[in-house]
Amino acid sequence: MTKYKLEYIWLDGYTPVPNLRGKTQIKEFAEFPTLEQLPLWGFDGSSTQQAEGHSSDCVLKPVAHYPDPARTNGVLVLCEVMMPDGVTPHPSNKRATILDDEDAWFGFEQEYFFYKDGRPLGFPEHGYPAPQGEYYTGVGFKNVGSVARQIVEEHLDQCLAAGLNHEGINAEVAKGQWEFQIFGKGSRTAADQMWVARYLLMRLTEKYGIDIEWHCKPLGDTDWNGSGMHCNFSTKYMREVGGKEYFEALMAQFGKNLMEHIAVYGPDNDKRLTGKHETAPWNKFSYGVADRGASIRVPHSFVNNGYKGYLEDRRPNSQGDPYQIASRILKTISEVELPAVKAA
Ligand code: ADP
Ligand code: MN
Ligand code: MN
Ligand code: MN
Repeated sequence: MTKYKLEYIWLDGYTPVPNLRGKTQIKEFAEFPTLEQLPLWGFDGSSTQQAEGHSSDCVLKPVAHYPDPARTNGVLVLCEVMMPDGVTPHPSNKRATILDDEDAWFGFEQEYFFYKDGRPLGFPEHGYPAPQGEYYTGVGFKNVGSVARQIVEEHLDQCLAAGLNHEGINAEVAKGQWEFQIFGKGSRTAADQMWVARYLLMRLTEKYGIDIEWHCKPLGDTDWNGSGMHCNFSTKYMREVGGKEYFEALMAQFGKNLMEHIAVYGPDNDKRLTGKHETAPWNKFSYGVADRGASIRVPHSFVNNGYKGYLEDRRPNSQGDPYQIASRILKTISEVELPAVKAA
């Protein structure tokens, strides 16, 4: 038997953005445990805004697990929070009730800032560094400093070692700003991995004395980019059948549901989706081929393949909850009749 370090990870009850929480228990297994072997556990919900003090127990239900790349015999155990009965989802548990479809694929592009001493990593104590221009996909100390790349590389290695579908990294437009991409089939699979990747990044940067700033516009109304979490999505129908008529019906439905999408695309998005800095205004829906100033960007490949493939919703922001974002997209898609069905 081997003693495994099980890191139970969950989302707390803070609004509008939940925090990641985690605690460890040690259990013995003959080999790397299956999900079914991982027991329910509990925590004090009165300390996480998930319960009142007089009845504070919440239940942690393991829903996905990954090898923990930073620990010997470690397991990352992603959990849903349940009521004390163990079967009723806690109101803060969004994952339990979202729409899912394993044939719907999601690619999230997570942007974020490294922060140290209350400002983006690489910013001087007073004033600003050289204006935006050379930082995006930049190289060299003056563009990316001396520690950011080390962290980003370590994070990439950890994500791959944990078995996450990490798809790439790049330095972003603002100094101290970076991006990584996570791909998954099904809204839960994709969003689970995004939350675990966020967890790994926050835990990794502890030892550097650096925080991750997830807010979508940390530098406010200045000439510094905000952070998004573009959501690239495709359903089986979009990939295999598609067509201009269906695409236009889909975009009309996205337009109709503008506010419902914005409601789950992350807080303070009006500060980021201003129409500047490669964004579309938050209160107006638009789409365009290769247009990074549109709400939804249509890749050239999509049009060239007869309106087949994936689309990029550029509005979700860096603090958004990928469970709710993916589910909202599936909801809008579900409201559009497939042309084949209509004809029948
Ligand atoms: P850009 O920065 O040009 O917007 P990225 O390369 O950062 O694009 O991200 C594109 C994302 O699209 C990747 O995360 C990838 O996983 C995702 N993607 C590619 N093909 C599909 C698809 N068929 N369905 C959903 N997502 C996809
Ligand atoms: Mn990108
Ligand atoms: Mn980007
Ligand atoms: Mn993008």
